[in-house]
Amino acid sequence: MLTPVTTKNWSRPGSHTLEVYRSGGGYQALTKALSMAPVQIVDEVKKSNLRGRGGAGFPTAMKWGFVPKGTGKPIYLCVNADESEPGTFKDRYILENDPHMLLEGIAITAYALDCHRAYVYSRGEFKKPSAILDAAIREAYQAGIFGAKVLGTDYALDVHQVRGAGAYICGEETALLESLEGKKGWPRLKPPFPAVVGLFGSPTVVNNVETLANLPAIIENGADWFAKLGTEKSGGTRLICLSGSVNRPGVYECSMSTTFRELIFDPQLGGGMPEGRRVKAVIPGGSSAPVLTAEELDLPMEFEALKAKQTMAGSGGVIVMDDATCLVRSLWRVARFYAEESCGQCTPCREGTPWQARLLRKIEEGRGEQADLEMLVQVASSIAPYPPIGLGNTICPLGDAAALPVHSFVQKFKLEFQSHIAQRKCPFGDSPWGHFGAFG
Ligand code: SF4
Repeated sequence: MLTPVTTKNWSRPGSHTLEVYRSGGGYQALTKALSMAPVQIVDEVKKSNLRGRGGAGFPTAMKWGFVPKGTGKPIYLCVNADESEPGTFKDRYILENDPHMLLEGIAITAYALDCHRAYVYSRGEFKKPSAILDAAIREAYQAGIFGAKVLGTDYALDVHQVRGAGAYICGEETALLESLEGKKGWPRLKPPFPAVVGLFGSPTVVNNVETLANLPAIIENGADWFAKLGTEKSGGTRLICLSGSVNRPGVYECSMSTTFRELIFDPQLGGGMPEGRRVKAVIPGGSSAPVLTAEELDLPMEFEALKAKQTMAGSGGVIVMDDATCLVRSLWRVARFYAEESCGQCTPCREGTPWQARLLRKIEEGRGEQADLEMLVQVASSIAPYPPIGLGNTICPLGDAAALPVHSFVQKFKLEFQSHIAQRKCPFGDSPWGHFGAFG
């Protein structure tokens, strides 16, 4: 039986309000944290094995540990709520259903980092979630949770929400910082990393919404309790965004050891496939994660297990594609997205992403040659070779995100690409499923 952490309040009426959050014990963890030394909080988070839920799965306490001490500059905490990876829609649920859990996590983290100003950078399209978060921030100020004396102590913290303008690239942490500074959201060359030179040139930690929403439970229940909810190297639970060809798409809090098969077929989770359909492919962690085949469904949705298979748990966006879905068309759709969202700063990504999309369109429309398929892989390799993951030739991971799906789809489903070329048409014909599948 799963112990819910981040979703535990979602079914309570008025769960987004301070009154309801407090009636369930909300902000007691912050009271406890304020009685601890900051270093004790960092140690607890380290022992909890909390890993970032935004994409990379980096150990949270290790990220905090890169912040230099005693620089004389302010330390900033930036919360990445610019959730835009196709297939990912969990953070908006936290903002809408339990914004105070996030705010409590922000306050605990800020205190641990000796930070006095935190920014939540929200996706521009998040009109409703942003409004709910703004109201929650106002409530927190009125209740003395934020401001000059946090819960009556001498610790001061200001929290602001800033909305982006709808660019996917601003979810990349350095582009997010540029945008927060009022500039065009162009990723920065690293190093220096944001922990050392971040917002306004100061040490900065950038954490994802779901990551920080776990902080109250860690402080309240202890690191051991949280670590035991997960696997050896990944503490806690995960929010999974399930979409595509399943009967019950939605956001589910799952154990890290849940397999893709359980996620898709458990009656309490995905509830199986539409009648007569079989799994063909599964994207395990947002559209940039290399695809899995139907033979790989028994893998757990955990960072290390997926890394060993040269893919990633990413942002928790699981997209299920069935046997009537044209994978060439699906990949073309993904490729168009990354081509559209490339910021254009570096050549392999700027030139390569639209090139990939053009080649895929040609193959899908029955005009492709074998040489086009080879060129497609060459173009993807010039953006980012694969495997392993992480060899990208670009400034930021958007290049990898665009190339990895191409590599993995072609490697694992080459026959489907070749049958488009041999038949000089899409073998899935005019069926709406065949043409659009999970990608609409
Ligand atoms: Fe911009 Fe793409 Fe280069 Fe990232 S990889 S900096 S999105 S051009």
